[in-house]
Amino acid sequence: MDPVTAVLSPELLARIAARAPGYDARNEFCHEDLAELTEAGYLRAMVPTELGGLGWDLPTLVSAQRRLAAAAPATALAVNMHHIWVSVARSMVAGGHTAFEQVLREASSGEIFAFGISEAGNDAVLFDSTTQAEVDDDGAVTFTGTKIFTTLAPVWTRLGLFGKDTAATGEAGETPLIFGFLEREATGWRTIENWDTLGMRATQSHATALEGARVPPERIVRRLPVGPNPDPLVFAIFSSFLTLLAAVYTGIGDRALALGAELVAKRTSLLSGETMDRDPDARYKLAEAQLAQLSLDSQLRGLAAEIEAGVDHGASWSPRLAALRTNATRTARKVLDLVLGVSGGAQYHRKSELSRLYRDALAGIHHPSDDESAHRTLANYTLGPL
Ligand SMILES: Cc1cc2nc3c(=O)[nH]c(=O)nc-3n(C[C@H](O)[C@H](O)[C@H](O)COP(=O)(O)OP(=O)(O)OC[C@H]3O[C@@H](n4cnc5c(N)ncnc54)[C@H](O)[C@@H]3O)c2cc1C
Repeated sequence: MDPVTAVLSPELLARIAARAPGYDARNEFCHEDLAELTEAGYLRAMVPTELGGLGWDLPTLVSAQRRLAAAAPATALAVNMHHIWVSVARSMVAGGHTAFEQVLREASSGEIFAFGISEAGNDAVLFDSTTQAEVDDDGAVTFTGTKIFTTLAPVWTRLGLFGKDTAATGEAGETPLIFGFLEREATGWRTIENWDTLGMRATQSHATALEGARVPPERIVRRLPVGPNPDPLVFAIFSSFLTLLAAVYTGIGDRALALGAELVAKRTSLLSGETMDRDPDARYKLAEAQLAQLSLDSQLRGLAAEIEAGVDHGASWSPRLAALRTNATRTARKVLDLVLGVSGGAQYHRKSELSRLYRDALAGIHHPSDDESAHRTLANYTLGPL
């Protein structure tokens, strides 16, 4: 049995798929899914075996996240945030940055990591922060600001976050961006319950108000300068985040295509008397969807394998990752458009799975690097910076 099926068994995926419509309708966090995935060891997937994990590499997790997303996109996106930190830590530790070992050890012992990076209107994303970071005499850091879209808000036990040192003067050579992991038990933070969205509802990505949230010195893991820079943490976050995000949206396309093929085979044309899977227009549209999906499949597998192998693409890494993320989220929507076009008006009903997948896929517009940012990266690579 392949390692992914051993953990994400068909029975587990079927139970997760069956619960997805209810979480979506009730705008509820996927608690039962998370409990079952934890029990199956899935949250330890990328933790090395010597630390009690499953020892998976990135391509294996990408393939698993794709399957999970085909069953329940929001559940896959929720656990994605945890997997991203574990993947980042695995890569940082492999590069000798031992401060990140705590993430691997704690993920192994059941802690749940959330991704507290996004801030409203911060289009610098990782390269600047509106959150204030005040360094205390003992090296602890107190964070004040608002993080938005904190997926896993009801359950995280460690929030990976960053902010900007209030003592920074803007001189060259400073490293004011401070990264650390906040414990849920800490004081000085609260959830602002504002998650009521079009799709991806089970992620419960509420905002987080940081009001003097203290991270002890041993949980501060890195300091970076403001602005783009080649630090290994930047590459680890971008490569893990964009690849695993692409896996989720590729899984949505996989499921949409499978549903499309099922639905056209069940519909009969009054004009021809034949099932719609024999209709030339339906065949063309689903072939077009498959063309996009298979191109994405190769791109996703290829990049995941190259990240794992440590291939040096130099300056073309950022445009390659931006291209993958853009292609994955666009392809999910394109595939759904084509599938919805051949599968009949019944699929427009709110309870149809395709209609839920469509709403979920639209969230792809809002993840970093968004369309404009991806195009800036690609234009800079092609034409040089402005
Ligand atoms: C499904 C989904 C899950 C995501 N999960 C994560 C995640 O786990 N971690 C992460 O770092 N990023 C996450 N992102 C965030 C995302 O990647 C972007 O950063 C964000 O969608 C867009 O930012 P914006 O600048 O356009 O926000 P804006 O349009 O400026 O704001 C977006 C929303 O943030 C909330 N908000 C804004 N200001 C405040 C405030 N002062 N107080 C309270 N709430 C406020 C409001 O709900 C607002 O509608 C997720 C995105 C999506 C679509």
